[in-house]
Amino acid sequence: MQMVVTDPATGLELGSVAVAQTDDVERAVAAASAAFESWSAVPVVERARMLFRYADALERRHEDLARSVSRENGKTIADARAEVRRGIEAVEFACGMPSLMMGDALPDIARDVDCVSLRFPLGVCAGITPFNFPSMIPLWMFPIAIAAGNTFVLKPSPQTPLTADLLADVSRDAKFPDGVLTVVHGAADTVNALIDHPGIAAVSFVGSSHVARIVQERAVRAHKRVQALGGAKNFLVVMPDGVKQSTVDAIMSSAFGGAGQRCLAGSVVVAVGAAAERLPQMLVDAARGLRLGCGLDAATDVGPVISHDAIARIDGYVERAQKDGATMLLAPDPAARDAKGSFLSPVVFDRVDPESELAREEIFGPVLAIVRTATLDEAIAIANRSRYGNASSIFTADGGSARTFANRIEVGMVGVNVGVAAPMAFFPFGGVKESIFGDLRCHGKDAVAFYTQQRVVISRWP
Ligand code: NAD
Repeated sequence: MQMVVTDPATGLELGSVAVAQTDDVERAVAAASAAFESWSAVPVVERARMLFRYADALERRHEDLARSVSRENGKTIADARAEVRRGIEAVEFACGMPSLMMGDALPDIARDVDCVSLRFPLGVCAGITPFNFPSMIPLWMFPIAIAAGNTFVLKPSPQTPLTADLLADVSRDAKFPDGVLTVVHGAADTVNALIDHPGIAAVSFVGSSHVARIVQERAVRAHKRVQALGGAKNFLVVMPDGVKQSTVDAIMSSAFGGAGQRCLAGSVVVAVGAAAERLPQMLVDAARGLRLGCGLDAATDVGPVISHDAIARIDGYVERAQKDGATMLLAPDPAARDAKGSFLSPVVFDRVDPESELAREEIFGPVLAIVRTATLDEAIAIANRSRYGNASSIFTADGGSARTFANRIEVGMVGVNVGVAAPMAFFPFGGVKESIFGDLRCHGKDAVAFYTQQRVVISRWP
């Protein structure tokens, strides 16, 4: 069975991929298991050398990859190029595996007894990825897993599978041995087949919280190691001394970059005290100036959302927010609607009830809510009542406010005068609460810990 991939900007078919049947999953895991035997025995410096080749090969295909991301996801070509860059950085991080995988040693832990702690690969790892970063999120996973000596089966989003195939093509340029990286396509059934397969040792997942929970629970029942990163609702707190054009620019990029379809998208602005006097109008003026269009057009600021289904879902939130009494400062532009492409212009609501659906649920579209509070304490309390805990930012000129915020906000990634608090590949990426199921995060040292198992060897030589 073929799965059709649609260009969200035109509604035209971009291509199709074959959905993996039970036999295909079996074959992929068997190939990965067979490859693991030899791959795990390749010295780590040689494995790293292959990753250096891969980083070079990705660099040569950077523009092809970015265009593929922009076409199938809809994001602007500038965002797509930046996404591929972040992905290549994760490969560069993986190139450091000889140092990253080093264990610890302590002589004479008792009389004439020495102890070393070593890291070994796990076996075949599976990765399940979302539609919103078709190149970067797979690259958070398999390069690090493979450099650590594992083999990998990737199941990308059915909405953006073509870039994953391109990543696999590039791996052939870098001479990955057969079975070290395999891509299988499909949806929930394919994911379940991978999780349940006795040949799979570990599962990395990034997607919505609803599915992250399902994946984590299923993997735990199968006694698999699992990390499952989920959704988000990110609060951007603006202090009165933070109201300035650079803050507005950062909020525009955070709220409407990628058409609001990022797990780091700032979707609620909390205007503290006098910040609410000028900020809402500044945000509306800036949002109105954003140009909607096809991502591949260099003049576009906001591309389409992923599908017409996504538009229907987002429209539902907008309608209910109006019924809930929020003030719509910037309405969706009916002229932006297109029967073919899935375009939705930026929407801004003010005086949003902090407990309403609009302020609490992940909308995953270009909709920004403004909540007004009297104090920073109140702003932090509102953000901390979220069931999510991915990222949050403060905009201020005051170090004390920034410090209080960074110490008390309950998220995994904090921005200070930064709208998208994205750590680079050598730091861990992930949140707390329902933004993660499992404990270890993606990339950074967490990923090395996730993709390796430790063994201590205690020796005496009488
Ligand atoms: P999704 O959860 O719908 O899909 C993610 C993956 O899970 C896909 O590969 C999909 O095929 C698979 N899947 C879907 N339903 C499944 C099921 N019932 N059982 C098993 N597998 C299933 O997410 P999406 O719409 O592709 O991506 C958007 C979501 O991802 C948002 O919630 C966003 O916040 C989140 N996200 C989180 C991060 C992060 O770092 N925390 C990063 C990017 C995206």
